[in-house]
Amino acid sequence: MSTQSEHPTLLIPGPIEFDDAVLQSMSHYSESHVGPAFVSVFGDVLSDLRKLFQSTDDSAQPFVISGSGTLGWDLVGANLIESGEAALVLGTGYFSDGFADALRVYGADVTELKAPVGSRPQLPEIEAALKAKKYKLLTVTHVDTSTGVLSELRNLSELVHSVSPETLVIVDGVCSVACEEIAFDDWKLDGVVTASQKAIGVPAGLSISFFSGRAIKAIESRKTPPATYYASMMRWLPIMRNYEAKKPSYFATPSPQLIHALHTSLTQILSVPLSERFAKHREASDKIKAAITKMGLNQVASNPDDQAHGMTAIYLPETIQIAQILPSLSKKNIVFAGGIHKEIATKYIRFGHMGVSILEPERGHIERALQSLEEGLAEFGYQKA
Ligand SMILES: *Cc1c(COP(=O)(O)O)cnc(C)c1O
Repeated sequence: MSTQSEHPTLLIPGPIEFDDAVLQSMSHYSESHVGPAFVSVFGDVLSDLRKLFQSTDDSAQPFVISGSGTLGWDLVGANLIESGEAALVLGTGYFSDGFADALRVYGADVTELKAPVGSRPQLPEIEAALKAKKYKLLTVTHVDTSTGVLSELRNLSELVHSVSPETLVIVDGVCSVACEEIAFDDWKLDGVVTASQKAIGVPAGLSISFFSGRAIKAIESRKTPPATYYASMMRWLPIMRNYEAKKPSYFATPSPQLIHALHTSLTQILSVPLSERFAKHREASDKIKAAITKMGLNQVASNPDDQAHGMTAIYLPETIQIAQILPSLSKKNIVFAGGIHKEIATKYIRFGHMGVSILEPERGHIERALQSLEEGLAEFGYQKA
């Protein structure tokens, strides 16, 4: 159980509630970022990430760079695609739109295949798009945090490999890594970008990514240099390789305290089989979704097969406003997030359920959140139809 000072329970889709030991790791004394102790910890973090991504392919490469999840979009845009090359972005909401915008900044010719709100593009239309044009890469937002829609990766990647084998398969896993299964090698993915503060359970500030040997080759064979200095993966590649080989190396100063926190969290995550961790998130999510349905509420992600397991986006009853329910929850010490998908932003709220809130049920976060939601709705006169 937690010994943190009393605070509202943060149940938004990231940052999530943190484990005490993870937070305590951040009070590590200052040390040199090229000293042997720190280099060893950073090296262990990189090898742990290979396990988190279920990868044993030596040609694949983890990267941990100071920045938020958004930096992952810049890594892809600046390094994996050259100006004028085509990208197919599977449109699931706010975050896939953001990825598309980031790619355009680097001159990518972006086609967005947009699904109706609350769903995801389907394989036949993706197949047709891949046959109609040659794409350097395809991006998929594994969990679009604006809708709670979960995209399927295995069959998608198989389709891309059969229809358009040169196209790189890139995943925005910011809201899925460490709560949804990702088998990087088996599913033949080329890149997954994520961040520290969501299911990985570490304070915000780290861009964490994993790229295939094929993706690294695509960068090495660029015709033009990347239009970035800090986000140049060729500058970071030798640094990451050196850290993993426990050799000191410098390009830009990492945050030792955040790396310590990530080390602690990854050690915890890998201390139980990943399948167990994913199953716990799935079971808790099923219970939450059943409770939401029992309250008579609908989810933004309409198809049960497309529902994320680390968050739930919930439509409010028509008679209740966000400006009523969030303050009411807040009085009960529960913090949910409002909507961010521009077409429905005022109509729904988001409940994040990842990490310790799921893995330490003795904290009572989920029961308290569901009960507070039910009471809050009743305060404003909501009765289940
Ligand atoms: C949170 C999130 C991002 C952006 O991450 P930041 O850390 O806020 O920059 C990108 N994609 C998805 C799917 C997210 O959930």
